Amino acid sequence: MRYSGLKVITEGLFGNKGWGPAWRNPAPKAEYDAIIIGGGGHGLATAYYLAKNHGLTNIAVLEKGYLGGGNIGRNTTIVRANYYMPGNSEFYSHSLKLWEGLEAELNYNVMHSQRGQLILAHSDGQRDTLARRGNAMINQGDDAELWNLDQVKDFAPYLDFAQTRFPIYGGLMHKRGGTARHDAVAWGYARGADRRGVDLIQNCEVTGIDIVNGVVQGVQTTRGAIRAKKVGMVVAGRSSQVAAMAGMRLPIESHVLQAFVTEGLKPIIDSVISFGMGHFYISQSDKGGLVFGGDLDFYASYAARGNLPMVEHVMEAAMTLMPMIGRAKVLRSWGGIMDMTPDGSPIIDKTPVDGLFVDAGWNYGGFKAAPASGWCMAHLMATGDSHEVARRFRLDRFRTGHVMDEEATGSQHNLH
Ligand SMILES: Cc1cc2nc3c(=O)[nH]c(=O)nc-3n(C[C@H](O)[C@H](O)[C@H](O)COP(=O)(O)OP(=O)(O)OC[C@H]3O[C@@H](n4cnc5c(N)ncnc54)[C@H](O)[C@@H]3O)c2cc1C
Repeated sequence: MRYSGLKVITEGLFGNKGWGPAWRNPAPKAEYDAIIIGGGGHGLATAYYLAKNHGLTNIAVLEKGYLGGGNIGRNTTIVRANYYMPGNSEFYSHSLKLWEGLEAELNYNVMHSQRGQLILAHSDGQRDTLARRGNAMINQGDDAELWNLDQVKDFAPYLDFAQTRFPIYGGLMHKRGGTARHDAVAWGYARGADRRGVDLIQNCEVTGIDIVNGVVQGVQTTRGAIRAKKVGMVVAGRSSQVAAMAGMRLPIESHVLQAFVTEGLKPIIDSVISFGMGHFYISQSDKGGLVFGGDLDFYASYAARGNLPMVEHVMEAAMTLMPMIGRAKVLRSWGGIMDMTPDGSPIIDKTPVDGLFVDAGWNYGGFKAAPASGWCMAHLMATGDSHEVARRFRLDRFRTGHVMDEEATGSQHNLH
């Protein structure tokens, strides 16, 4: 069934009885050509592009819970292509171009809104760094504008320009940046993959990876053994645990990241504002809630919920930047598990096990990456070669030293 405005109107007129399920609910087969472990944004996008770009349709996505129940449905939905380092820069640029055509591609309203992202500068040094980043973005073919204080004041008059702790000097505006509806991305890719014949198997936890003489044979699951010559591990915060099933130790630590949303308010913030000095960023959802977050909680954990010291830190930053937020009521908060690499950049690569591939290390920036990650992981699994925009996302870079330390914070996972 194609979705369209006309279909919404006719269904509305006739009692909404004509909608079918967006995807099937098949039982797992004994064997597939390829298995993707993980039904998050990246796993579903990988399956979709394997089918669409490479004609591989005898595929299963195995998800231990329900589709979109992981970080893809827990993030703050920011989409941007403003990375600085070679490697990240071309990859996120590719991803943003895929975002720009995603709704037409999937015939699904993912509510991609290019409302602009403004990163604030609070010192001369920071403004210089942003100028450098902006130049790198323009060289990559993306957009960037260095704004002075007056431009920031015109654009976001609700910021506190009188506060002296972190005075605002200007900012870097990325107009093609913005937001999208997070779980709709999972649903759109799921529906697209299903329509191409991919089996999406929910409530199916992978509990083991079968390997004989260094070659992958398939997986063990809570719904029985499933054979496949190619297996992709695309499990975000659970990457270390799933890789351990294949005897691998990944260069990843798992940390909690929290986010918050207020009650619905009238439109006030019509872009994304990033306040790096305070570890705070904010946007407003289509329902009116102010959606904001901050830094990681300061310890490694597999609990998808955070602790109060970080709540306090985020609220303090919010009040410093825009005291008017103190009038809003926070409706809820939540957390997700982040797979943090030592350089803050991801991994899309083969593993030492023949036929076993890994897509991981998305840190707290993997939502915007989902389209390109799926595109490149599908390319790798289908052809055995890295896609040109993901060539530097190698697993062995921490041994060879070819790291991409985007924020120049050193090798401590939780600082990225
Ligand atoms: C609070 C918060 C805010 C964020 N904000 C942003 C943002 O603004 N912009 C941005 O770009 N990114 C953001 N992120 C990061 C982004 O959400 C993640 O990097 C990205 O969603 C991870 O990829 P995924 O969607 O595939 O992960 P997930 O949705 O977590 O998918 C992994 C799936 O694997 C499944 N799985 C795990 N183990 C197994 C197993 N053994 N067997 C079968 N299935 C298994 C899980 O159940 C899960 O569904 C944020 C994250 C959080 C938590």
